[in-house]
Amino acid sequence: MTEVVPDRHKVVVIGSGFGGLFGTKALRRSDVDVTMIAKTTHHLFQPLLYQVATGILSEGEIAPPTREVLASQENARVLLGEVTEVDLTAKTVTHHVLGRETVTPYDSLIVAAGAGQSYFGNDHFAEYAPGMKSIDDALELRGRIFGAFELAELADEDEEIDHLLTFVVVGAGPTGVEMAGQIAELAHRTLRKDFRRINTREARVVLLDAAPQVLPPFGEKLGGKAQRELEKLGIEVQLGAMVVDVDERGLEVQDKDGTRRRIDAVTKIWAAGVSASPLGRTLSEQTGAALDRAGRISVNPDLTLPGHPEVFVVGDMISLDRLPGVAQVAIQGAKYAAKEIDNRINGRSPQGPFEYFDKGSMAIISRFRAVAMVGKLRLTGVIAWFMWLAVHLVYITGFKNRVTALLHWFVSFIGRGRSERTTTEQQIFARAALNRLERGAADLVTPPGAFDAARAMIELTKKAEDERANAELSQAERRRAAEAERAEAGRTSS
Ligand SMILES: Cc1cc2nc3c(=O)[nH]c(=O)nc-3n(C[C@H](O)[C@H](O)[C@H](O)COP(=O)(O)OP(=O)(O)OC[C@H]3O[C@@H](n4cnc5c(N)ncnc54)[C@H](O)[C@@H]3O)c2cc1C
Repeated sequence: MTEVVPDRHKVVVIGSGFGGLFGTKALRRSDVDVTMIAKTTHHLFQPLLYQVATGILSEGEIAPPTREVLASQENARVLLGEVTEVDLTAKTVTHHVLGRETVTPYDSLIVAAGAGQSYFGNDHFAEYAPGMKSIDDALELRGRIFGAFELAELADEDEEIDHLLTFVVVGAGPTGVEMAGQIAELAHRTLRKDFRRINTREARVVLLDAAPQVLPPFGEKLGGKAQRELEKLGIEVQLGAMVVDVDERGLEVQDKDGTRRRIDAVTKIWAAGVSASPLGRTLSEQTGAALDRAGRISVNPDLTLPGHPEVFVVGDMISLDRLPGVAQVAIQGAKYAAKEIDNRINGRSPQGPFEYFDKGSMAIISRFRAVAMVGKLRLTGVIAWFMWLAVHLVYITGFKNRVTALLHWFVSFIGRGRSERTTTEQQIFARAALNRLERGAADLVTPPGAFDAARAMIELTKKAEDERANAELSQAERRRAAEAERAEAGRTSS
C-alpha cells in the first residue's frame, strides 16, 4: 500500500469518474499524497454504457479497475467507500462501505462525485424505467431488452407480443438517441435471424421527449437531421410529449395540447434528466453556496467553494457559466484543480479563472450514422461516425480495452453479431432484491441486527471507559483536595 508521509500535503479526491481519475493522474508528479475515495472500484466511461446495454461491449471494457489504472502512480492510493459527509471545518471526509465507517483527513479536497438520474420528483418511475448511469443500470437494461425478445418468442397472443416488443426510450438527448438507435439495430439487423416465431423487425421503438426537438444542444439543423435518420431506422420520434406516469405495463404521456394517452410497453428506458450528487447539498449548507434546480453547486471562478480555497468541486456537480455536463468539463476542471494545488505547495502564483475549451460534441445514431459539432463545423453521416469512433477510442482507458473495443465494434458494425449478449437473473433481479433490504448489501454480510449490536457495544464500552476515567479523575481530585486540606490544617496548627 502507498505510505502516507505524515507531514506531506494530503489531497483527497472524491470519485473515480472523469474528474476524479484525471485529477488524481494530474497530481502524479506533485509532492503530495493523494487518496481517491469512490463508491465503485472502477473508472466508468459513461458515454459507452449504451453499448454494454445492447450487447456490443463488455462491462470490463468500459470500466477498468481504478486500482489497476493507478497501480504505477506511487503517490496515489484508492479507497472503496461512499462518502456521506464532508466536514469543512475539521477538514475530514467520512465514508462507508458495508457498514464500516472511515474518516480521512485532507489538506486539499477535489470533489468529483458526478450526477445521478433525475426522475423530476417521481423516483418510483425508476423501478419500471431504469436509467443509464452505472454498470448495474446497463446490465439490468441488457437483461430487460434481450429478455423482452425471449418472452415474446414464447407468447401466443399478438397483443402480448406487441406489448413485449415495444421499447420506449424517454429523453431525446445523446444517450436516448444512441439507445433508441441501437435497439432498432438489434431488432432490424442483429436478431432478425435468431428467432423462429416472432419477427423481430416488427418491434416498435419509440423515442419521446417533452422538448420540441431531438438533440437540443446540437441546434435545429443537426437535430432535424438526426430525427430524419432515426425515422429512417423505423424509430417513432414523439416530441412535445411529457411522461406523467410509468408502471410495469407502460407509460402515460401528456401531449402539448394537454391530451393524455397511454403507450403499452414492457421495456422502458429513462434517459432524461440529471441530478447532481447529494454531496452538493452538504457543501452548500456549510458554505452558503447556492444549488440550482439540478442540485449543482455554484463555485468560484477558480472552482473552489466560497471561504474554502482548499476545496475544489469539478465536473457534473458544478454550476458555473452554464458549462455543460460533459466529460471534458470534468477532465479539464480536475486538471485545473490539480495544477492549482501544485502551484500552491510550490509557492507559485494562481492560474486565473478556469476556462473551458470546448472540443466539440457528437452523438451516434446507428452504425455509419452520427452527428458532430466541432467549432463552427457541422458534420453528419459516415464522416461524423468515424470521428466518433476515433475520439472514443482515444478516451477509453487502457490499451487492452482499446484493442478489444475495436474488435467488438468490428464484429458488431461490419458483421451482424454482438458478443456480449449474456444476461443473468442476478443482473435483472438482484439489485431490486438488495434495495428491499434495510441496509442493502450490509445486511448480507452481517447477521440481522449484528451491525447495530456491534455499534451499540462499542458505544457502551466507550461510555463505561469515559465514566471510569471521570471517576478516576474525581478520585484523584478528591485525594489532591484532601492532601491540600491536611497541609493547610498543618500550617494553621504550627
Ligand atoms: C449514458 C451517458 C452518456 C454520456 N455520453 C457522453 C458523451 O458522449 N460525451 C460527453 O462528453 N459526456 C457524456 N456523458 C456525460 C459524462 O459522462 C459526464 O459529464 C462525466 O462523467 C462527468 O464526470 P464527473 O467526474 O463529474 O462524474 P462521473 O464521471 O459521473 O464520476 C462520479 C464518480 O463519483 C463517484 N461517486 C458518486 N457519489 C459518490 C459518493 N457519495 N462517494 C464516493 N464516490 C461517489 C462515482 O462512483 C463515480 O466514480 C454521458 C453520461 C451518461 C450517463
